[in-house]
Amino acid sequence: MLDRLRSIVQKVNAARDLQSALDIIVHKVRQALDTQVCSVFLLDKDINAHVLMASDGLKKESVGHVSLEVGEGLVGLVAKHAEPINLQDASLHPSFHYLKDTGEENYHSFLGVPIIHHRSVLGVLVVQHEERRRFDESEEAFLITLSAQLSGVIAHAEATGAIEGVSPSGHKTSDTVFPGVSGSSGVAIGEAVVVFPHADLSQIPQRRTRDIEGEIEFFNSCLELVRQDMRNLHAKLAGQVAEEERQLFDVYIRMLDDAALGNEIVERIRMGFWAQGSLAYVANEHVRSFEEMDDPYLSERAIDIKDLCARILFYLQDKVVVETEYADCTILVSEEITPSMLAEVPESKLKGLISVKGSGNSHVAILARTMGIPTVMGAVDLPYTQLHGKEVIIDGYKGEVITNPSDQIRARFLETIQEQDQLDKGLLGLKDLPCETADHHRVHLWVNTGLMTDVMRSLDQGAEGIGLFRTEVPFLLAEQFPSEEEQYQIYREQLEAFAPKLVTMRTLDIGGDKSLPYFPIEEANPFLGWRGIRVTLDHPEIFTAQIHAMLRASVGLDNLQIMLPMISNINEVKSALQLIKKAYRELIQEGVKVKYPPVGVMIELPAAVYQTRALARLVDFISVGSNDLTQYLLAVDRNNPRVANLYSAFHPAVLSALQQVVEGAQAEGKPVSICGEMAGDPGAAILLMAMGYDVLSMNAASLLKVKSVLRSITLEVAEELLENVMQLDDMQLIRSAVDLSLYNAGVDRLLRSSRTN
Ligand code: PEP
Ligand code: MG
Repeated sequence: MLDRLRSIVQKVNAARDLQSALDIIVHKVRQALDTQVCSVFLLDKDINAHVLMASDGLKKESVGHVSLEVGEGLVGLVAKHAEPINLQDASLHPSFHYLKDTGEENYHSFLGVPIIHHRSVLGVLVVQHEERRRFDESEEAFLITLSAQLSGVIAHAEATGAIEGVSPSGHKTSDTVFPGVSGSSGVAIGEAVVVFPHADLSQIPQRRTRDIEGEIEFFNSCLELVRQDMRNLHAKLAGQVAEEERQLFDVYIRMLDDAALGNEIVERIRMGFWAQGSLAYVANEHVRSFEEMDDPYLSERAIDIKDLCARILFYLQDKVVVETEYADCTILVSEEITPSMLAEVPESKLKGLISVKGSGNSHVAILARTMGIPTVMGAVDLPYTQLHGKEVIIDGYKGEVITNPSDQIRARFLETIQEQDQLDKGLLGLKDLPCETADHHRVHLWVNTGLMTDVMRSLDQGAEGIGLFRTEVPFLLAEQFPSEEEQYQIYREQLEAFAPKLVTMRTLDIGGDKSLPYFPIEEANPFLGWRGIRVTLDHPEIFTAQIHAMLRASVGLDNLQIMLPMISNINEVKSALQLIKKAYRELIQEGVKVKYPPVGVMIELPAAVYQTRALARLVDFISVGSNDLTQYLLAVDRNNPRVANLYSAFHPAVLSALQQVVEGAQAEGKPVSICGEMAGDPGAAILLMAMGYDVLSMNAASLLKVKSVLRSITLEVAEELLENVMQLDDMQLIRSAVDLSLYNAGVDRLLRSSRTN
């Protein structure tokens, strides 16, 4: 059974579109279960009905025409309860609804299973039989397992159609919403520009070209290079491998012939597509048809095609650096956006970001927030390679992507953009005002930085200090460990730009999702592995060079603070302090006039929460890294979109941990700050202020928003709110209670999380 299952899933996966996927399903399932009918009904939301989309056994003419209203018939019942129904005689069931013109009157037994994707029912898979008998347990289990495996493929195929403006049953559709999670708030409308890492056929977008002849010529020259490679390999392997194996290269050369693969690709280019996209398209078509074949030898040939086309792609990409043309309103789209992809877009053109992988707490999302670019992360169902050049809307508040926008939707979002611009202009007036509540409680708003551009932006927003300089950012952009001198230059720039304001430099925090290309760390569980202080204590030479550079950079400015990440016990702090003191003594002995800086610990692990007092006794300040603290307390990977809905700093456990940290630090008389993304959420900032955090450190783009909200309420109201929410046991209720108090304080809807638009 497992083999049959695997083979069906493989074939469906290889299908070119929704209809062929469904046709394969009904045909193969009918064969596998030896039934007389197998049909698929899919929900078409545009017409609110389950449409018979494919059938092997029912009358062909009825396919695509027959439908059941939502809730109607046995199909409706299966969908409604999201559970299978297995009947000996369907016609006796009270919900039975006879489908005219299908010929189903001949069939009695009925087994329908729901097709569920991400908790929603896409449709129903049905098998029917003439005989009056219940399908047995193993048949039911087979169909359920198959349906679970196919739901993703069906969802993907539906989504691809929706991008082209077609609903599952072929009706015109618009405003298709693809859910993701919010990476950075704000709304943007623009043209999708799909970017991709090199040498991966599956990620090449379908772009148009203006220079068809030039593209063909270029393609042919790359093709010739691959032919030459094949000839060379053929010659090189003479005498080394069996002649039959050597003949494979002849086969390859023939496949590349003008009359074969090469010709098809040229034809596609003539239709106006660029060479890389044409190659990917033709390659995928061939791979698909080979994979669909039953003969194992032939289906293996799919691998040859992939290999061959990857070689051509290598030359296509190697010969020219593809200059991506960025539209004036670029919405950058990629499977996984990297900081360097971001950096390549001219800043004035970049309006929004969509990353299929990652979540709101991924580092690229943090970067986007710093730059104030609306971003949707984890849009896992988005067929992004089809999106290039199309108009898309990003709702960075809700974390949604909308394709094929109707005039109405576009107008509504344009209004929000105008509102946003007005709000931003208004906020700028707060730049030089203190962050003080209406009853004169003063809160300090600092910023998180990583690059020099962040520093400039932060000063523009009236930041009072740097609460977190992520020193790993320049390390991530380098090609090898920056030397002590190079680090000195980077740190000096940050310290000078902010002096006399304090700059908190965190020692290198690599590992987890931040691995250096020149220092790879391969682990099964990177977030629980060799990360942050664990790496640097094992490599005291890296740590010491960094401390030397920081200390030297602070000479004459004296505005440096050093902070230690990923601390799980006091011995790590003691060892780090020893190394810092040693580095300091060395510089003093060299005659460098350096001041010993305050040193602090980050509270990022649950273990550290319980040890706040012991840790606080060893250092000068405490700073909470709420991004990791939330991740580790809730056991939710901060990068995983599948569990992003479970990640919330408003979880009661997170809030009580945060409160415990303040109490512990205060009991030891040490200042306490927070530098996770939570501090940049206006609602959360109220709670943090009420808890007693002295400094809230956030991305620059959030600073004025938080200031405006804190200035509009009183400490008294904030403390009352905190007292109330600490009694609640549900994160959603807490979020709503906070939003309600923002609403009551007259806070603009765009600064609240529960906007109604
Ligand atoms: C945190 O974990 O909250 C933090 C500030 O550090 P990073 O996001 O860089 O891991
Ligand atoms: Mg962290």
